[in-house]
Amino acid sequence: MANLSALAQELASGAVQVIDLTSPLHEETPILTLPPEFGQTAKFKLEQISNYDEKGPAWYWNNFHTGEHTGTHFDAPNHWVTGKDLDDVSQVPPSRLIGPAVVLDFVKEAAANPDFLLEVSHIEAWEKEHGAIPKGAWVLFRTGWSKFGDDPVAFANADENGPHTPGLPPECAEYLGTKRDILGLGVETVGIDAGGAFGMSVPFPCHNMLMGNNKYGLTQLRNLDKLPPQGAIVIAAPLKIVGGSGSPCRVLALVSK
Ligand code: MN
Repeated sequence: MANLSALAQELASGAVQVIDLTSPLHEETPILTLPPEFGQTAKFKLEQISNYDEKGPAWYWNNFHTGEHTGTHFDAPNHWVTGKDLDDVSQVPPSRLIGPAVVLDFVKEAAANPDFLLEVSHIEAWEKEHGAIPKGAWVLFRTGWSKFGDDPVAFANADENGPHTPGLPPECAEYLGTKRDILGLGVETVGIDAGGAFGMSVPFPCHNMLMGNNKYGLTQLRNLDKLPPQGAIVIAAPLKIVGGSGSPCRVLALVSK
């Protein structure tokens, strides 16, 4: 039987720490920009209803406007054409929002080359050192990119050829999508695909292969440096938007101290 009272005690004592992997959500939170011929996602925006004033003498509250894929967010399978008949964000089973986390650390490589791509051989080498990626795991690709998260220009790192941020090539996206029984992929960048993913042999391979195989995406994660390579538990909590393709998401990790 699971010992939840022991977990409660460990949370209270700090033996288990709660790490917030979520980026703050505000008007300057970086968003993905697509080529101008496509529709664009919206920035996050608060619209005040009242602030202890004539519109509401004792209460402060806001409406908010946002894209589903703004800030730290969850990609549901129906976000991509390959997963169009699979779950929308409200249909994802709650048991598939929580799982063990594995952290693949490629901070050095991404610092040396912003277009760094994670290869199958990197995953195999990681597993040789740390053990097999467990069933139902969140695979977290640590690149250090979150250090640019408060500077939309540096975060996008774009030139005349488009954005330059790390990601996965088609072979590795297919491998994670089909050869490992994972929940999904979490990244520090604006989306789960590399900045150069539009021009790959399979465009946007992570979206294509993960959504198409009923897996999920988590983006703009922070504090991955506070997680061990394996042993943490990650909880992703997207809004239950009926018919939605994703949602801004609070992502928490439980880490044994
Ligand atoms: Mn997305």
